[in-house]
Amino acid sequence: MEKKSFNIAVFAGDGVGTEIMQESLKILKLIAEKTKVRLVLSAGYIGGAAYDRFGEPLPGQSLEMALQSDAVLLGAVGGPKWEALEYKFRPERALLGLREKLGLYANLRPVVVFEELLDASPLKKEVVRGIDIMIVRELTGDVYFGQPRGVTIEKNGKRKGTNTMVYTEEEISRIAVCAFEIARKRKKNLLSVDKANVLECTELWRNVVSEIGCAYPDVTLKHMYVDNCAMQLIRNPAQFDVIVTTNLFGDILSDEAAMLTGSIGMLPSASMGKDKALYEPIHGSAPDIAGKNIANPLATILSVALLLRYTMAMPQEAELVEKAVAEVLKDGYRTQDIFQEGKLLVGTAEMGDQTLKKLTGLLN
Ligand code: NAD
Repeated sequence: MEKKSFNIAVFAGDGVGTEIMQESLKILKLIAEKTKVRLVLSAGYIGGAAYDRFGEPLPGQSLEMALQSDAVLLGAVGGPKWEALEYKFRPERALLGLREKLGLYANLRPVVVFEELLDASPLKKEVVRGIDIMIVRELTGDVYFGQPRGVTIEKNGKRKGTNTMVYTEEEISRIAVCAFEIARKRKKNLLSVDKANVLECTELWRNVVSEIGCAYPDVTLKHMYVDNCAMQLIRNPAQFDVIVTTNLFGDILSDEAAMLTGSIGMLPSASMGKDKALYEPIHGSAPDIAGKNIANPLATILSVALLLRYTMAMPQEAELVEKAVAEVLKDGYRTQDIFQEGKLLVGTAEMGDQTLKKLTGLLN
């Protein structure tokens, strides 16, 4: 039976986090009201806001809240106020803590270029028109966690830096299954990115992804070396549907792909675990514009669409949120970061309200 009740932990965080979260919650509450889904929203502190109150960036009660939830909706953390703190007290530690404790192993980054924002891209319109890519990045393995690691002193007195790329078969098959399942719900094209010609670890990656592919005959699987993929993302990004890759390659390729859209304020993300997920915009706390009602709330609103699609199994409502955003842009509303001459400059709250109005119309 379809689940009709969801516990969502809401962490606005720092900087623009509070402003963009307010707008996203309006959207989420409207969907719940119209569809009769029961939402239990619990708000907690993380990041710098939590450090100021509780002396740590991820206090026990916030972690407990996240663990008890079906999903976490997060704004952003960090800011100059906390930059000088000892590493373990820094706001960003809260994100690593949440990822680890919730067992989040797949980072999903949709990269969509809205027709209305084609001019914002640093690339030519013809190149970016129609792109709709989903990047699936593995989050728990690779050089970020492999042992041995560190900087040591050699016998000759010179320093040596080491990081080790490690992937187990289980880690690769888990992310491959996730990517195939996503591809199945999209255009059924999956590209696995590796460097199998020179890195044995990613040769294993390629082999395991191909083996998992046997269970998905409806999905077309291709492989590409990471250097070629970096090039193709600029040359012809419209060729891609779903891209699955390692932690390190995904870190770099997902930021490259984000630039195709030209606006950091428009991009949502999801981090998935076995039975938990975390949804957040890809941008940070934007301290330079915090508290001024000028931040773009659309990345967080689009993160709500991902929450609806992946945790709440409400793909139609997810599409309606995305459609509402597209229509608001079509009507000419722009926050400062995506402003173009001749358009209507609005603040954070008005952008949220316009999206809410559109969505109300679409839901009726
Ligand atoms: P940032 O993403 O916060 O800001 C980069 C630039 O983009 C800034 O000019 C900012 O004004 C603009 N921007 C970001 N979001 C915007 C939005 N919604 N609307 C309009 N403009 C927007 O990156 P940064 O400046 O490198 O980092 C600021 C702080 O955020 C740091 O403390 C960093 O550690 C933290 N951070 C947090 C996360 C996260 O919470 N997931 C991610 C990245 C950075």
